[in-house]
Amino acid sequence: MNKDLNAPILSAERAAMWFPVRGGLGKTTGYVKAVDGVSVQLHARQTYGLVGESGCGKSTLGRLLCRLLEPTDGRITLFGQDISHLKERELVPFRSRIQMVFQDPYTSLNPRIRIGDALMEVLAIHHTGSRSEQMEKALGILDQVGLRQEHFYRFPHEFSGGQRQRIGLARALILNPEIVLCDEPVSALDVSIQSQIINLLCDLQAERSLTYLFISHDMSVIRYISDRVGVMYLGHLVEESDTEEIFSHPAHPYTRMLLSAVPSIVPGDKTDRIRLQGDPPSPLDPPKGCVFHTRCPYAKKECGEKSPELSELAQGHYCACPIAAAGN
Ligand code: SF4
Repeated sequence: MNKDLNAPILSAERAAMWFPVRGGLGKTTGYVKAVDGVSVQLHARQTYGLVGESGCGKSTLGRLLCRLLEPTDGRITLFGQDISHLKERELVPFRSRIQMVFQDPYTSLNPRIRIGDALMEVLAIHHTGSRSEQMEKALGILDQVGLRQEHFYRFPHEFSGGQRQRIGLARALILNPEIVLCDEPVSALDVSIQSQIINLLCDLQAERSLTYLFISHDMSVIRYISDRVGVMYLGHLVEESDTEEIFSHPAHPYTRMLLSAVPSIVPGDKTDRIRLQGDPPSPLDPPKGCVFHTRCPYAKKECGEKSPELSELAQGHYCACPIAAAGN
């Protein structure tokens, strides 16, 4: 039990996930450094938004935090316990307390199993209740995510994208978890459906005192839903702050570029767009020094020499760019 009320309920401490690249005869020829020394903390009943472009390592960090992956280095702590290297059997008591919602729940649903049975299966795996209690819980959770009782008997292909995401939420919530990791849960949906799912997530958080890690590449969605935001680039956390602070005073050039790319609906808004040079480098061979220096419009010679650490610019606002920290 986590006794310190201010302590994070889930954290990564300099977590790293390097995937080996195998050559001929299975020999390791290098590593894809998907996550490289990232520290984040999730506090109870808050939403931590993790943002960055595709391939920056945000989904890998999410999988590390819920121990679907074992970290290469660093530490993952859940409810005060180090779970970094626990075996699958030792993780069982934690599995019901932390659940995930993915971008496309359809791929994780068996097309030949009715939705009600898929929900009851989750409870059966965790040995929760009798069959009639499982059925009652499954019907109850369908109602809570905005589906009807008749949906219990339908197959996955009979649902729309938004309804499938509600099913994904139902499957995650049926075990009454305290933490839900949402990995791009609305990116595949139409804008009007996106807002319904986001509002549902907010309502469920208030009703069930949930803590969310919300992963997205969409700055507008992140701003709406998050209490705190972390910006990732090429496996590194480059900036972190409370939501309003980071959106009103973005410091890292990469965060400023992401914000400048958000389209404005204000007529005549001529916010200068910061354009990046080149493509993102490969995480197989990341640049030396600041990983962003090959694309940064403000890069100086020293940026390619030393990897910058996060430093505190204002209370709770951290940035891994000494040049931004110096106000240049
Ligand atoms: Fe750009 Fe240099 Fe700052 Fe990196 S350290 S973000 S390259 S200015």
